Amino acid sequence: MLHLAVLGSGSSGNSALVCNGETRILVDAGLSARQIAERLESLGVDPDSLSAIVLTHEHGDHARGLGVFCKKRSLPVYATARTGAVVRDNLAAPLAWRQFEAGDAFRIDGVEVRSFPVPHDAVDPVGFLFDCGSTRLGVVSDLGHVTRLVEERLRDVDTLFTEANYDETLLMNDTKRPWATKQRIGNRHGHLSNDQAAELVSTVAGTRLHRVVLGHLSSDCNQPEIALEAVRRRLAAIGRADVLVECAGRREALPLQPVAPPPPPALYREEIPADPGHVCEPSRAAAPEWRQTEWAF
Ligand SMILES: [Zn+2]
Ligand SMILES: [Zn+2]
Repeated sequence: MLHLAVLGSGSSGNSALVCNGETRILVDAGLSARQIAERLESLGVDPDSLSAIVLTHEHGDHARGLGVFCKKRSLPVYATARTGAVVRDNLAAPLAWRQFEAGDAFRIDGVEVRSFPVPHDAVDPVGFLFDCGSTRLGVVSDLGHVTRLVEERLRDVDTLFTEANYDETLLMNDTKRPWATKQRIGNRHGHLSNDQAAELVSTVAGTRLHRVVLGHLSSDCNQPEIALEAVRRRLAAIGRADVLVECAGRREALPLQPVAPPPPPALYREEIPADPGHVCEPSRAAAPEWRQTEWAF
């Protein structure tokens, strides 16, 4: 089963971890290399055990830590040709690039990674759908508006990680940002507002949607309570108040959690996992042992 952790999310840096058993994929490396390593360790994940890095786009808050993090680790880095070209220009050392075109699907061990273009003011920004067969996770960060294609790709996911960048009123009333910056944030190639994120969530909410994680919240023009309320209200309006909604923060990691709920316990079960909470264990130890359990009635 896929698991998701968010190491950090916001304009100061974005990085998330997607796991499926021994496969560990870092989505973006926008924190410093040290922060990425420390936050992985705080989750019990060895930073040297990653399988690959995938990049959504070249902006500093998504790629800043890449060069230093990969200096001592020979990790494949997946990016579109145009994104890779821009990031490469800013790196001293060569990286193990794996090039793809926006819209391509590729496999990293047992995980299918499906990319799709998103509208944002970067050279070739993409979102990702991760699919391990039994579970699906959608990740979109930094998009100015929701296209039909984005909706299509994110339909029927178990967990959706999407940005909810700003509250429209707080952005309008913000005194720190010049008008041009506000225009850039709010335009069709900027970022999603809370209401746009809520609309996206309610549009793609299928029967298997279990959890929504909101990220990239502006520190001045948003608050977790406002973003959560906007999305929860919209979900309640379509009868899906059961979906878990939470926010990822800038300063600390959101722990590794399965993207789908565990299957309901069988009434007559003969075996249970020794440690069901650690499906995505950091070490490369053998699979958890199973032990027999006798049921007394
Ligand atoms: Zn961006
Ligand atoms: Zn960003």
